[in-house]
Amino acid sequence: MERTPHIAIVPSPGMGHLIPLVEFAKRLNNKHKISATFIIPNDGPLSISQKAFLDSLPNGLNYIILPPVNFDDLPKNTQMETRISLMVTRSLDSLREAFESLVVEKNMVALFIDLFGTDAFDVAIEFGVSPYVFFPSTAMALSLFLYLPKLDQMVSCEYRDLPEPVQIPGCLPVQGQDLLDPVQDRKNEAYKWVLHNAKRYMMAEGIAVNSFKELEGGALKALLEDEPGMPKIYPVGPMIQTGSSLDAVDGSGCLKWLDGQPCGSVLYISFGSGGTLSSNQLNELAMGLELSEQRFIWVVRSPSDQPNATYFNSHGHKDPLGFLPKGFLERTKGNGFVVSSWAPQAQILNHSSTGGFLTHCGWNSILETVVHGVPVIALPLYAEQKMNAVSLTECIKVALRPTVGENGIVGRIEIARVVKGLLEGEEGKTIRSRIRDLKVAAANVLSKDGSSTKTLDNLAFKLKNKDNLRL
Ligand code: UDP
Repeated sequence: MERTPHIAIVPSPGMGHLIPLVEFAKRLNNKHKISATFIIPNDGPLSISQKAFLDSLPNGLNYIILPPVNFDDLPKNTQMETRISLMVTRSLDSLREAFESLVVEKNMVALFIDLFGTDAFDVAIEFGVSPYVFFPSTAMALSLFLYLPKLDQMVSCEYRDLPEPVQIPGCLPVQGQDLLDPVQDRKNEAYKWVLHNAKRYMMAEGIAVNSFKELEGGALKALLEDEPGMPKIYPVGPMIQTGSSLDAVDGSGCLKWLDGQPCGSVLYISFGSGGTLSSNQLNELAMGLELSEQRFIWVVRSPSDQPNATYFNSHGHKDPLGFLPKGFLERTKGNGFVVSSWAPQAQILNHSSTGGFLTHCGWNSILETVVHGVPVIALPLYAEQKMNAVSLTECIKVALRPTVGENGIVGRIEIARVVKGLLEGEEGKTIRSRIRDLKVAAANVLSKDGSSTKTLDNLAFKLKNKDNLRL
């Protein structure tokens, strides 16, 4: 009897990686009957959000949590990319054990990793399973990853010290200082890990990228050019979350509150699963919102000087509302709604009262806002978010970007200016119309005969065909 083709997926930690991978797996399972096991490396208990999300996986998708790795030897200031890469590297023995059972029980056709998990390829190859990448970020970032080994050879100084912007294939030139964080210091381990993973992308049989032509035409055109030795690229986006147990309950009551607001009047403010503001920026944002006199929903986290402080646990440990300026909640009552730590973002963006999104520019947030046609204010914090902000404002042209002051903070007056500009001003109108066009384009690529649907069909065919060859 023919056995269902099955894939293993090893996600990097963080909801921003898990959410699109689950969506990807759901689509392969629903339409193509390719089931999946998520194999989760970690360094301790999963966050509440991750656990709840995994527990809500539908039939055909399941998960295994690997034994935690030990990071006691890592210095405190070890960067996120190093930790993520090491989490996979230090899990290889337990991953091998998981594979030993999976290859007996299932008809394993592929392993998918995301971003920094390429060391897991070695295990897949040992078991005769094809290695693939699911790239959860922009085509622009993927183009940079594939170009990085060459750039690393060509340039000897820090990229931020280059007199000219960096020309990533197919993309607008980007200033070195706007490239993703881990390439900002080439001596740091984080850079070495990014380069290590980027080089190993060449081992993949294919790379699925969460983007589509109408959004990132230039980068995708360059990526899709046939170049010997390059893995095949599959643009399958936008893959965004389509509901989970996390969204099922409106615990904070923010959706009910939205129901009572005028159409397109509310600014939604969130910095993804890991973004954290400094105490000074939190204060200026609050005062700016108050000055703008616009309606808002704000997902507030406790401040930290580290912009990705809650990356490994979005719920943090302290009561975030206690950090807001004195009297802010009372003064904005009626106009504003504040949620601690986590909100049902997909439903908020899909609500007719939502008229703008102030975001840290995480790629899932961007895709969600494009799918729902909500214009953006870009306030990037870490990782590749500055690159995304450049692309959103200069290339895709769906965002306003506030000017950062000399102290590295966006001041209250500037916050109030962009918030009003987006919700009431002429500039807001232009980008709103542009993002509505993109909303239509996103719906088209995902329709029955749309390009992303067909690309996923091709990828599924390739995976299933592999299955047939092995029988
Ligand atoms: N998210 C959410 N509620 C929150 C914060 C984030 O549902 O309060 C979801 C959001 O919809 C997105 C993901 O978490 O799907 C965050 O991914 P993104 O790439 O935007 O940012 P990251 O967390 O990776 O920085």
